Amino acid sequence: MKYYSTNKSIRNVSLSDAVIMGLAEDKGLFMPERIEKFDPSFFEQIDKLSFQEIAYEVARKFFGEDIELAKLKNIVYDTLNFDCPVVPVADSIWSLELFHGPTLAFKDVGARFMARLLSHFLGDTKEEVNVLVATSGDTGSAVANGFLNVPGIRVFVLYPKGKVSEIQEKQFTTLGANITALEIDGTFDDCQRLVKRAFLDEDLRSALTLTSANSINVARFLPQAFYYFNAYARLKEAGVLRHKELVIAVPSGNFGNLTAGLFAREMGLPVNRFIAANNENDIVYQYLKTGEYRPAPSIETIANAMDVGDPSNFARILDLFGNSHQKISKAIKGSRFSDDEIRQAISDTYNSHHYLLDPHGACAYMSLQNSLATDEVGVFLETAHPTKFLGTIEEILGAGKIEIPEKLQAFMKGEKKSIPLSFEFEEFKKFMLSQAR
Ligand SMILES: *Cc1c(COP(=O)(O)O)cnc(C)c1O
Repeated sequence: MKYYSTNKSIRNVSLSDAVIMGLAEDKGLFMPERIEKFDPSFFEQIDKLSFQEIAYEVARKFFGEDIELAKLKNIVYDTLNFDCPVVPVADSIWSLELFHGPTLAFKDVGARFMARLLSHFLGDTKEEVNVLVATSGDTGSAVANGFLNVPGIRVFVLYPKGKVSEIQEKQFTTLGANITALEIDGTFDDCQRLVKRAFLDEDLRSALTLTSANSINVARFLPQAFYYFNAYARLKEAGVLRHKELVIAVPSGNFGNLTAGLFAREMGLPVNRFIAANNENDIVYQYLKTGEYRPAPSIETIANAMDVGDPSNFARILDLFGNSHQKISKAIKGSRFSDDEIRQAISDTYNSHHYLLDPHGACAYMSLQNSLATDEVGVFLETAHPTKFLGTIEEILGAGKIEIPEKLQAFMKGEKKSIPLSFEFEEFKKFMLSQAR
């Protein structure tokens, strides 16, 4: 299958090129030229299939023409060596828990899949690829852990010194092997600027093969469709979808996760509507209301992975619906919540339902409360484990109430290794050139 750019001013490219390039040369986002539908009978039997089996069927629809099926199956099964279960929280509201992977956030799914796919495409060339990723926290850890020990790939994580939490820092500075952490004496924006400049630098480009692993990469966002299908299967299996329609609420920042859900629906997944849950960064909420898309500088909130003022995947949503505000606002409902509302929801849900929400999942949970019709069942995406936001949770519930999962504790025990650099491009460039071999 070919991939086109949402800006439509380049020729269509192969999957391999789309994955290696990340962003199209005309700065558009890649889209698959076709979205293949499942036969309705697939959904009648879907509850008999395991998560991995379902994911493989979905992956075949996207990537089946471009990779040998046995290889694709390996990639899918290897990516999903953890579960994404659906658990009941309140009346007609279920949580799709996406935090059972190595870094306890949903980004593990896309990052692990992309690492394996990229390695597959590089397999024949024997070329070594250097992945540069700037992070303000979660992306760096998912990408670093997803690419750990993947042959042919080296990862350089650039992060702002003193501006990520201790847990987050440990998740990408203690790994060693093919992962190098660069501690930049500057801000997240400085890190991002260094990465962008590196891609444009002739000397670096001739010495090293560079690529990026952010969420605009098709290999990172498409695999997120897997768990939407699984949520449907598990709810059907539990018998809760009899005479009921499904509503899915997604805590949204760059809108990659929600876009993957929209793709799942295009493939035939029976979803009545989606709810995009925002924090105070409500650009899409306003768009849904008014039809006007007005990017703005991001506002800091306690659901910080959603602090995005110009969501990068919005271009894909526009493209998918032919720029029709009417169609988009029919498929997606908006919602927005303040930090105070998020705190209240975390506390209330913990006290009345004994379920601990993280600040992002809390927005999606609230968007289902009071909005479900009697013939609807709601699922919200729990995008990260609440203990990744320990400080915030302890402020709300009091200290010492919650246990830190062993997986996180294991990271805390590792020894931090990073290379300190200033925010000067020349210093970064000199370091990268020293890595050429
Ligand atoms: C990245 C992230 C989000 C936002 O996901 P998008 O795909 O960018 O909309 C939400 N919650 C958590 C915990 C995240 O890490």
